[in-house]
Amino acid sequence: MPSRCLEKEGAMHVAIVGGGLVGAAAAVAAQQLGWQVTLLERGPSPLAAAPSALWDLRISSVHQRNVNWLQQLGVWSLVAPSRYLPYDALSVTTCDRQQLDFTAAEVNEPQLGVMVENNALVRACWEYLASQPQVTCRAACDIHQFDIKNKTIDVKGGEPIHYDLLLGADGVNSVVAKAAGIGVRGWDYGMRCLLAVAEVKQSIAAQTWEIFRPEGPYALLPLQENLACLIDYRAEQDWRGKDESQVKAALKETFTPHIGPFKLQNFASFPLRRQRALRYYDERGVVLLGDAAHGIHPLAGQGVNLGFVDVQVLLQALRTQPMAQALAHYEQQQMRVNQRMMRAMDAIHIGFRSPHLIPRFAVASGLAAVSLVKPLKRHIVRAAMGWE
Ligand SMILES: Cc1cc2nc3c(=O)[nH]c(=O)nc-3n(C[C@H](O)[C@H](O)[C@H](O)COP(=O)(O)OP(=O)(O)OC[C@H]3O[C@@H](n4cnc5c(N)ncnc54)[C@H](O)[C@@H]3O)c2cc1C
Repeated sequence: MPSRCLEKEGAMHVAIVGGGLVGAAAAVAAQQLGWQVTLLERGPSPLAAAPSALWDLRISSVHQRNVNWLQQLGVWSLVAPSRYLPYDALSVTTCDRQQLDFTAAEVNEPQLGVMVENNALVRACWEYLASQPQVTCRAACDIHQFDIKNKTIDVKGGEPIHYDLLLGADGVNSVVAKAAGIGVRGWDYGMRCLLAVAEVKQSIAAQTWEIFRPEGPYALLPLQENLACLIDYRAEQDWRGKDESQVKAALKETFTPHIGPFKLQNFASFPLRRQRALRYYDERGVVLLGDAAHGIHPLAGQGVNLGFVDVQVLLQALRTQPMAQALAHYEQQQMRVNQRMMRAMDAIHIGFRSPHLIPRFAVASGLAAVSLVKPLKRHIVRAAMGWE
């Protein structure tokens, strides 16, 4: 279907700042509407170097709904098959040892989603974009300044870039948000997430699980038959400054009872922060997407999934409505959905870890109720696939 913006304004030019997961996918989707796209990325081009032999630590569980969307965009087929694994079940265990399992079979689907290396997915998007004549990708790009009123970006060592619409997909410290005067609100959770890729002796099922304990949850993401991503959330001081042998010892104590002996390939820890932009758009033709609009606790693997839905909702609105209405519609819809998810993550974060009986009881009895009510369970499985 032709875009109303396109009909009205000719070849609309979209400038996207940030060529990570959300910005690169937005560039693919925007060019498929026939728009001219300029993608500006501060870091090196993902195509500049050959993929590393080992998995990177940044791995995402992508809902099946978003996998389907990436397939429709023609990007998924470019992701290296050795860098993703479909999973068909997930389980959650509370501090009080209540366990709830969700399976794709419960909703008659072959899989719930896919574990994918972020770098491999970004690389696939850039590879796709490199073959599109109406797309310009500029890596190692140093933005000098934005002129939001005149819709122009000055980049160091290049001609000014004139655009009709500017998308900020530049993550939590968004320069686009700052340039448009959009404020943010947020706080640190005071926790770090340790991620490790481990070679496991016994084979791993294509199932992801998460166990809650008072210190914070720990989880396993399957990557290949004998490879897994281990995730361990603890208080900031528990991970900061720990050397390799201390990290190994802590992970061994936590994970060996579940997966037997394993060897670490690499690991690193990341601070956890919650942040939201106070507006998702500015009337002068600026929109925030992905982490630039909402940085969420990663315990349920929602961040990039929300970002991909931002792209879908924004572009659908731009296809069918004049720009001013489309941007307002996008903010109204996505801010509500994303904030609801952020509040849910906070409730889980607090409820599961709480030393107090009331929130723990609420979570445990909630889980018990879910396991008894089949339609509710199916609803949750569909939500885990991104359909609800
Ligand atoms: C430990 C952990 C585990 C996670 N697991 C999951 C998961 O399982 N599932 C899930 O859905 N989400 C997960 N997330 C969240 C997910 O990683 C993020 O939501 C996602 O990376 C956001 O993508 P983005 O493109 O919006 O931002 P980013 O990934 O932050 O990308 C922003 C891009 O903009 C570029 N940039 C920044 N500033 C500039 C500038 N000035 N000029 C040009 N370019 C610029 C950056 O170089 C980068 O390439 C996890 C997050 C963490 C921390």
